[in-house]
Amino acid sequence: MDLSLFFVGTGGSTPSAHRGLPATLLRRGGEHVLFDCGEGTQRQLVRSIGLADIDCVFITHFHADHWLGLPGMLKSFALRERDRPLSIYGPRGLKEIMRAVSFIYGRLPYELTIAELEPMQQVRRDGYVVAGVPVRHRTAVAYGYAVVEDDRPGHLDAAEAERLGVTPGPDFGRLQRGETVGGVRPEQVMGPTRKGRKLLLSGDTAPCEAVKVAAHGADLLIHEATFADRDGERAAQTLHSTALQAAAIAREAEVRMLAITHSSGRYPGGELREEARSVFAKTEAPRDFDMIEVPFPERGEPQLLRWRDNPARGGGRQANPAPGSMNGAAHVSDAEGSSGVEGGSQAAGSVPAP
Ligand SMILES: [Zn+2]
Ligand SMILES: [Zn+2]
Repeated sequence: MDLSLFFVGTGGSTPSAHRGLPATLLRRGGEHVLFDCGEGTQRQLVRSIGLADIDCVFITHFHADHWLGLPGMLKSFALRERDRPLSIYGPRGLKEIMRAVSFIYGRLPYELTIAELEPMQQVRRDGYVVAGVPVRHRTAVAYGYAVVEDDRPGHLDAAEAERLGVTPGPDFGRLQRGETVGGVRPEQVMGPTRKGRKLLLSGDTAPCEAVKVAAHGADLLIHEATFADRDGERAAQTLHSTALQAAAIAREAEVRMLAITHSSGRYPGGELREEARSVFAKTEAPRDFDMIEVPFPERGEPQLLRWRDNPARGGGRQANPAPGSMNGAAHVSDAEGSSGVEGGSQAAGSVPAP
């Protein structure tokens, strides 16, 4: 089952030339789940992977940079004659906000469900749950979101199953689904249950215990890093995090990868990423349209894939589309480490194959 995060917008507060407002798209199998929907999100999607048919949206909090893109996107879905239902989840207050902007999108040809979540309440999806984790920010309530896959069955010991008289083929499948076959019980031939993957998106927050706990052992922590350490006072005043603080959370939570986002436009040159790496080496700072693939642990490490929307323009060589990339759009591995220069050419130099 493919699992990846597409960074639709990685800026914070105000858009810059190179960073859109917060929005992150989770893709799992055929599902598309959007976390936050800043102004301009649908335009960012159209410019990159296309305005995907989003199945549901989770809003972290009600600062305008995180949700103002919703009314326009709902309207666009209507104009495209969408008929699949759409669910929007968020903290208490979501219904009031959506009511206030409902005149913008008017009557919709599809079913729209708006649901306010209590802290830690889980939304069950097919094969995973999403839960709102209360974080520390300036709004009355703000959530990060934990995405936790269901446990997976253990490995089937084929040799042992055969020794016990089970014929390879459909009967193996029945054992894996928990059925007893010819007197052989699944627990005789199946290894221990394996954990599913876990992701944590912090939303806007000062460093907080709830994120650290919820993120423990996560495959990927996407944590805001609005400021650099030298602006720590400003971060504390506004209940945001510095890159160093985000990295400390990642280290203590023992995650496999940290991706910092929601960065203020004031730090060019990869400063935030380098700062975070001084504390937690496995840190990435995705730019708009970059993607992180999250394989099961036994299949490898999470990997950042850089976006090149027009390799010809920057003189870069065309890379093969990465596995899991959509519409043939080229993602290339950042294996060489990028310059990290915000707004620098994203297509400069030669690029190793993914
Ligand atoms: Zn924000
Ligand atoms: Zn905020």
